[in-house]
Amino acid sequence: MVHSGTTRYIGRFAPSPTGPLHYGSLVSAVASFLDAKHNQGLWLLRIEDLDPPRESEKAPSEIMRQLEAYSLEWDGEVLHQSTRLDDYREALSSIREHTFACTCTRKSTPTVYPGTCRDKAIQETKDQPVAIRLRVPDEVLEFEDLVCGTLSWSLEQEVGDFIIRRKDGLFAYQLAVVVDDIYQNITHIVRGRDLLDSTPRQLALYRTLGHDIPTYAHLPIVVDRHQVKLSKQAHARAIPTKDPLSILKIVLSQLGQQVPHADTVSDLLKAAIQNWDIHAVTGEPELPEPTGIHAAT
Ligand SMILES: [Zn+2]
Repeated sequence: MVHSGTTRYIGRFAPSPTGPLHYGSLVSAVASFLDAKHNQGLWLLRIEDLDPPRESEKAPSEIMRQLEAYSLEWDGEVLHQSTRLDDYREALSSIREHTFACTCTRKSTPTVYPGTCRDKAIQETKDQPVAIRLRVPDEVLEFEDLVCGTLSWSLEQEVGDFIIRRKDGLFAYQLAVVVDDIYQNITHIVRGRDLLDSTPRQLALYRTLGHDIPTYAHLPIVVDRHQVKLSKQAHARAIPTKDPLSILKIVLSQLGQQVPHADTVSDLLKAAIQNWDIHAVTGEPELPEPTGIHAAT
């Protein structure tokens, strides 16, 4: 356990170090920071460095430098997922009876896995790498999202048994995130709507691991002028660290918040923390990337 049980709110920002923060990730960082601080909570930083081939070595320090430039100060030590493999392994073995080995290829698998290998009892050998999937129950999961309202999924029909350890031996994002959120006692998850697809999988994992689920708020995603979400762009531009004050004002207004009169970043954030209202976050699924914010780099 990282923090004692006395803090009622523990939030986090958990970027993958595939590159520096772009405008879309800044919006998630700002919203999760303000929500945590408005609720007198902690805001933790976790670097999700589980997939080395996709990552950049420089990215973690770039991300931290950007957060510092915006005065988004995280609490405590930064947690790196690459240091947590033993815990993932342990979690996986604790839920063995709810999993099965799968040899299907991604190509041959429809979006919702039809349970092909469920009852085959496939053995993993050197010549036959397998993925490990969680067997989902035939149930409907429902939860209240602070931004999106009531959401529900039929686990078997809409989600399907999903991969928690990949064929290449790497732990899947879904497993690592839930094991870490439990480890860090995370109570509130504020993140982009592009991760909404993962939420029912993560809820199923919380349940299988025997833990209460956190509170969720899924924010609109930021798209460029071609309606492509920034995280999908190969080269989404890094947010500049010059003039964070003006950019933070744009973020606040896009999140439906009051934009306080302030001459410094720290005064702006102080007022923004006070005024923060998660229910004022726009219900629109997409936010346009503001034009002109990259000129100042
Ligand atoms: Zn299979």
